Amino acid sequence: MKFADAEQGYEESHFIIFGIPYEDEEMSFRNGTKEAPDFIRYVSWDYESYNITNGIDLQEIPIHDAGNLGIEEATRFIRRVIKDGKIPIAIGGAHSITPFLISSLKNTIDFGVVILDAHLDFRDEYMGDKKSHACTARRIYELVGKEKIISLGVRSASKEEIEDAKKLGFIYYSSLNSDINFDKIYLSIDIDVFDPCYAPGVSNPEPMGLGYEVLDFIKNLAGKVIALDVVEVCPPYDDERASLLAAKLIRDFITWKVSYKKFGK
Ligand code: MN
Ligand code: MN
Repeated sequence: MKFADAEQGYEESHFIIFGIPYEDEEMSFRNGTKEAPDFIRYVSWDYESYNITNGIDLQEIPIHDAGNLGIEEATRFIRRVIKDGKIPIAIGGAHSITPFLISSLKNTIDFGVVILDAHLDFRDEYMGDKKSHACTARRIYELVGKEKIISLGVRSASKEEIEDAKKLGFIYYSSLNSDINFDKIYLSIDIDVFDPCYAPGVSNPEPMGLGYEVLDFIKNLAGKVIALDVVEVCPPYDDERASLLAAKLIRDFITWKVSYKKFGK
């Protein structure tokens, strides 16, 4: 099953959706985020192709769904998508996919990384695994440097992560800080940035999170976003709320992006 309204071929499409059904061998709480790409595709058919807020119809936007890819394959694929001047939209999978994708783009284009996440993800390693989802921001920080990364919506971290972040100059806020100076942005959305009332089915739910303001934030940023990933939906624990929200974010993002730059017909 394809993502709804993503029925065009690769060549003619401006937006390229692909799934990465990848999770760590040791997830820290719940397993099952590898099921998210297909489940988010399934729930994406809930929605109208027409967006009532901006009048954009996704049926008129060239969008391609490249299916599910292994992590190595996805790493090569996202580089191709960027080189072809298209917007990649990766559906995880665990947050551990993001450093792979960013390492692949690092030498192709100059960009900053904005992470929306309830968690700091700044551990140097988790259960002996440096590629864990709990280390995502740390690995990206090492790849792009402290000037090129910011985490927002953070409300959970270990004492050591906070100490390391201070020591290493890693910038994070609990709220959404719209003062972002990157011209081009890789946006990584860990869906647990939302309150569990909007997204209960995530790998690590963290209460008292964000809501509608996340949508406004992404809308304002969309013009600068050159790549997007949406991670950590965990279908075995989801009553479809988290998946529906992820699908809607992807769909709305495309319309917001189109409103900035007149792609397509
Ligand atoms: Mn995360
Ligand atoms: Mn998280």
